[in-house]
Amino acid sequence: MTAILDSVELNEPRVVQVKTVKDPRGLLGVVEGLKEVGFDFKRFYFLTELREDSERGGHAHKRLSQCFVALRGGVTIKLEGFGKRHEFRLDSYDKALILPPGYWRELVDFDSDSLVAVLASDYYDQKDYIRNYEEFLSYSRPAPVTKVPYIDLGRHVDAMRGELQKAVDRTFDSGMFIGGSLVEEFEVAFAHYSGAAKAVGVANGYDALELALRARNIGSGHEVIVPAHTFVATALAVVRAGATPILVDVERDSALMDVSQVEALITPRTRAVIPVHLYGHPVDMDPLIEIARRHDLFVLEDAAQSHGAFYKGRRCGSLGDAAAFSFYPTKNLGAYGDAGGVTSGDPDLIAKVKQLGNYGASRKYYHDDLGVNSRLDPMQAAFLLRKLDRLDRWNARRVELARRYIDGLSDIDGLRLPAVRNWAEPVWHVFAVQVAEGRREALESWLAGVGVGTNIHYPLPIHHQKCFSGFRWDPNSFPIAQDLTQSVLSLPLDAFHTDDEIDYVIEQTRNFFKV
Ligand SMILES: *Cc1c(COP(=O)(O)O)cnc(C)c1O
Repeated sequence: MTAILDSVELNEPRVVQVKTVKDPRGLLGVVEGLKEVGFDFKRFYFLTELREDSERGGHAHKRLSQCFVALRGGVTIKLEGFGKRHEFRLDSYDKALILPPGYWRELVDFDSDSLVAVLASDYYDQKDYIRNYEEFLSYSRPAPVTKVPYIDLGRHVDAMRGELQKAVDRTFDSGMFIGGSLVEEFEVAFAHYSGAAKAVGVANGYDALELALRARNIGSGHEVIVPAHTFVATALAVVRAGATPILVDVERDSALMDVSQVEALITPRTRAVIPVHLYGHPVDMDPLIEIARRHDLFVLEDAAQSHGAFYKGRRCGSLGDAAAFSFYPTKNLGAYGDAGGVTSGDPDLIAKVKQLGNYGASRKYYHDDLGVNSRLDPMQAAFLLRKLDRLDRWNARRVELARRYIDGLSDIDGLRLPAVRNWAEPVWHVFAVQVAEGRREALESWLAGVGVGTNIHYPLPIHHQKCFSGFRWDPNSFPIAQDLTQSVLSLPLDAFHTDDEIDYVIEQTRNFFKV
């Protein structure tokens, strides 16, 4: 695994700062369990009266987590586990070594006056010890990969459970369970992250799309251009706003809206266009915005899959007139429930979205618009604030894994890998390969048979969805979107997949193609 994810996420040993408070009476040091160290303590023990040549340790724990602090003197702690060695010198009471289970340890080079405190996650249990080095080696050897989940949200939670717990506490402590300071703090942070002037939280990505359209008075009698290959919400939001979706086909290699076909679709009723940065790759915005300016169209990015992606050095979410984001749990920035947001450079639009999402109220109990209830939950905002700090690292990890796929699969005939434009820095929400002529289902079930989870984004183009049958779209009118629904297959790609897991998917895919 790589250094992009930090040790907390990898369950590696790490040294953290111990909080100290100094006043005229002396110094107080504090180590908090779950909140800071990632686990709660059940046992405290200490080592002292050590000789300089004392050596302790010589064992590993299967489940026990520990936190070491050298309250006085110093000690060197040598660790080995999961194919790696670490060495730490603890020689000051303001440093704590957090040691996850599974590490063989040797404690050496004690200063003679040492006093080493140890906080442990559980009571003494003889069965938890591994005292035989040979046995330890087989225990800590990374298990060979035999299955790869498409995504495992449990890994996200485990990586930052302590911090998420803190976010829950922050919400309780704030006393605000609708709106309030956590929501505002997230709105400011997310606008800043996306390079937009303003952001407003809403209940989900679907509402973000609809409310952004309604905030511009787009509705009955209006047309909005959307790609034929996207998640249903893009087109459905247009319908729910009261307008008519006008579909445009997509590019074969990128699966993104074919901007060159947009202008021909514009009529006197057209009011907006919704480019979808599908799979985490931005749409070619410059030519699209030029067309939109000429025809006075509102450009609403559907950025639900592209948090943090760059188009010519600018982030998705700051490219059009406004952008709709989803924080659905599996998105690159995901909450632990439904959540969404709108970004824009136009503060009036943001204010209008906020008003529409709060029963259309301009002030309490004065309802100027037929609004809805669509507000970002403060607890989700608290989670998202914690996760936003890590988003760039997680996206960088996705980029790394996408490169691994590209290196490992690019020579296979019959497999088209996702295109990356030279002006784009995608964030790989999805790694969608295209499988040639009729073999998609065969690859899908082959991979399922060897334990690899995949997905199809999406099995039907918008114009084939039953819910839109009232529009009477010609079933053959968007041929590339239609083809893609027959050929795309999304391979597992998430910040929490290991290199070994991706290598396993590559190997099994190569086996399928017999290369
Ligand atoms: C996820 C998604 C949405 C909708 O987001 P929700 O939060 O699930 O309502 C809209 N558009 C696209 C492209 C998406 O991927």
